[in-house]
This record gives sequence, structure tokens and C-alpha cells, in this order.
Amino acid sequence: MLGTKSVRTITKQTTTKSQSRDTPITPLRRVIIPRPDILHTYLEYKHINQYMEYLSNRYPHFVHMYTLGHTHEKREIRALEINWMNSQNVELSTQMREQSPPPFVAGNAGHDALPVVHNASHSRNTVFIEAGTHAREWISISTALNCIYQLTERYTRNIDVLRKLRFIIVPLVNPDGYEYSRTKNPNWRKNRRTHKSTKFVGTDCNRNYDIFWASGAGKINRNTYKGDRPFSELETRAMRNILDRLSPNLLFFLSLHSYGQSIMYPWGYCRDAPQYWRELSSLANSGRSAIKSYNGREYRTGSISCLTKRTIAGSVVDYVYGVLRVPMALVMELPSRELGFQPPVEMISQIGHESWYGIREMCKRSYDLRTQINRDNEPPLQGAHYVLEVSNEGSMTTTNEKPPAPDGGGDATGAKSTPKKKKRVKRTMRAQHETILRLQSSKPATKPKSLPAGLFPRQIPNSAPPSRLGRGGGGDGLLLTTNGKPPISSTMPLGVFL
Ligand SMILES: [Zn+2]
Repeated sequence: MLGTKSVRTITKQTTTKSQSRDTPITPLRRVIIPRPDILHTYLEYKHINQYMEYLSNRYPHFVHMYTLGHTHEKREIRALEINWMNSQNVELSTQMREQSPPPFVAGNAGHDALPVVHNASHSRNTVFIEAGTHAREWISISTALNCIYQLTERYTRNIDVLRKLRFIIVPLVNPDGYEYSRTKNPNWRKNRRTHKSTKFVGTDCNRNYDIFWASGAGKINRNTYKGDRPFSELETRAMRNILDRLSPNLLFFLSLHSYGQSIMYPWGYCRDAPQYWRELSSLANSGRSAIKSYNGREYRTGSISCLTKRTIAGSVVDYVYGVLRVPMALVMELPSRELGFQPPVEMISQIGHESWYGIREMCKRSYDLRTQINRDNEPPLQGAHYVLEVSNEGSMTTTNEKPPAPDGGGDATGAKSTPKKKKRVKRTMRAQHETILRLQSSKPATKPKSLPAGLFPRQIPNSAPPSRLGRGGGGDGLLLTTNGKPPISSTMPLGVFL
């Protein structure tokens, strides 16, 4: 549905090589792109794309659209870059333009290129927001579109964050799943890639990243199926390509989901607290406080494993934080249990606005925290990557090597697998699955307190972190307790798996 009142036209001046002073002025070519109404309806895939096209045409001096890849059903996964401080922005003073980095892709490489990686003097100023990984979480997509709306059509209201930060927003990571959810099964969660020799369809893209991937759900019929291997899915490969590329510039990564009404920080894969948990907690609490002051809605904050009461491996937020070492990474579960994954359309605008209030506050806070976090000296995560090498004797060792690129198109940067390599990967996969099955079958009847070393992370030590932050210690957030349980009465609603 398109808002008829909001239809605007974009005008472009066409020029030709032969144009000279004497030739008459070239007539204006009118490119009519209707503006879809993002605030009062759940848009279909093509209208989400149309909105992004509309903005990149209307604000070409600071908005640029990219195609990150294509899905199994040949839909595009698109990103929008909103980069106010660039040398081509005509709304900046001459002096500011001279001090700003160049915009977008080098030259005019079109929508298939990836954003420019800024050099050191402008680095670590990028906020990355992604949504729509889980098909049924429609409100996360609308909320990401609201962030885009605020930073473009309402840019004067948000100029303070635009002057400090560059934004990359992917509002719909899983368009195949979303369209299936809209038209066939509103409760669909995974993507829509078929699996050979089975009737089951789809993989949970938020279990498919290469960080302790092996400990995710291996049953193909599960709603949280982790896929055949890390980055087996076109959607996660498209995300990996842009995230890996931009990692030197990323300051704050935010993954939008629904409907837990919580803001959570790593780790998902284990119950340990990351080294900079105080800063992450402070960041999450800044968003929580802002939303509470906006309309009284109360979010919960804490680590993913603490608030969901389970460990979640292979998620994008753990990958960005653990593998790419982005200083700050959070998951925001939008409201709410009462409203479900798809709140009534009358709520889209309200949830979008209140969430933006919190997200904008977290963006500001992430900028303030940037000098307090230095992850360069942090030791690497042991055993995080998937590949297990099998030696001739059959013994296994973990390596930090990235797995070979999966077969099939859509992965321009991955190396091609040779038949020999393929065989080795198959062998290592089988060997690893056997190991996991053995470990699972040997589990004691009571819930184990710690997971096997090497493949799985260790439990939180008894000494740290404290069960609650002190008043002066960065906020009043709910944090890990010494026994690994959050000091809260309610748990994540059933059916919400991040
Ligand atoms: Zn989700």
C-alpha cells in the first residue's frame, strides 16, 4: 500500500558529452519514484526497495544504496548508507567538506559495489543496523525503516548524530522468508533455501555465522537449524562480505529482533562476560533509560545467554563482536509479548519512534565510549571457528582457519573449493558431527554445569562479574549472577529465540 499523499517526484538533470555553452539547456528528466508509507503499514519487499531507491534519489549527496547479494529466490539484499560528513555534501561548509572523507564507492561503481573503507583518520565512526533476519519479526523491519526515515527525511532533527557517525542499515536481511511469512505462513522464521533429499526448507540465518557454529541445532526440521556449515546461506554470506570489509570502521553494531523487549550484549554462545561488559551494559542501559523516559516502556538489559537462559551459537552479534572485534555490539528485541511478532499496524509508528529514541541515545553513547574500548590486545577466542582438521591418524585439532567458500554463486570474495578440499571439508564435517553427537549422548542426566572444553566455551567463573553493577559502575542493568542466572523473575517469552 502506498500513501498517495506522500508521493513525491525526483528530478534529475541529464547531460550529454556534446553539450556546450551554445546548446540549449537539456530538458529535465523526471524520475518518478513514489514514496511508500513506512510508518503505517508493513511494506512488501518491493516497496521496501522502492523506499530505499526513493531516498537515494532524493538525497544523493548523503544517501547511497547497495546491493549486497541475492537470495535463493533471486531477491536482492540491500543496504543503505547514510553518510552526512562526506566531501561531496553540498550542505556542508567548504571547510567541513575539505576535512571530510570521500563519499560512497570509489568512482561510480553502481549498486553492486560495497561501501568505502575509511582510512585511519576517519575510522571507527560507523554504526551498522540490521533487521529482518527472522522472517516473522515484521516489526524489526519497520523499525529499521524508521531509523532510515529519521536519518534522512528527518535529518535536521538528528543532525547531531549525523555529524559524528556514518550509518549502514540493512532493513531486510531475509527477503525470501519475509515474503513467505507475509503471504503463506506468518509464523515462518528461517530463510527459504531448499535442502536436497528432504522436504524441509530453510536455515536460521542467526545460527549460521562462523562462531562456535558447531554447537547450534543440527536437526534440519528445527526452527533454529544452523545450516550445513558456517555461511552456508546466501544471506549470511552477503552480510559477512560487508561486515568483514567494514570491520575496521565499525563502532557499534545493532541487530534488531522481536519480541523480547530487551537490549542484550554478548555473549550468546556462552555464559562468560566479555572483557568490556561494563561498557556494553552502560550502552544498553542508555537505550533503556531513553525509551523509559520517552513513554514509560521498560526494557530489560543483560547478556544474551543470561536473559534468554540459553546459549546461542553462530549468531551475527557474537560474530561481529567476537571475530571482527567491533568495539560494541548489541541485540535489541523489540516489544512485546502481548503484541507478538507482528503488532497491529497502528503500533508501527509508535514502536518505531520510541525505538529510535533509544537507538539514537545508544549511538551517541557509543561515540562517547569509543576511546574507552581497545580490543586490540584481547586474546583470540579459542576454537571459535568451525574447521576441524583431521590428520592422517584420525586425531582432530581445531584451527582458526576460515572454512572454504561454500559452493554456488553469490560469493564473489570466497576462494573456489577444489574437489580435494571439498572432500576434506566433508570429512571434517562428519568427524565434527560425530564428536558432537558423542558428547551429547554422553551427557549426564542432570544438566551439566560446564560444556566440554575446546568445542564449547567455559562457564562463568565464580569470581566475576558481580551480580549487579554498583550505582557508579555504569548503570543499573541486570547482569550475570555468579551462578549464571539473571537476577530477574521473568524469562524470555516462549517462542523467542533471538
Ligand atoms: Zn529474531
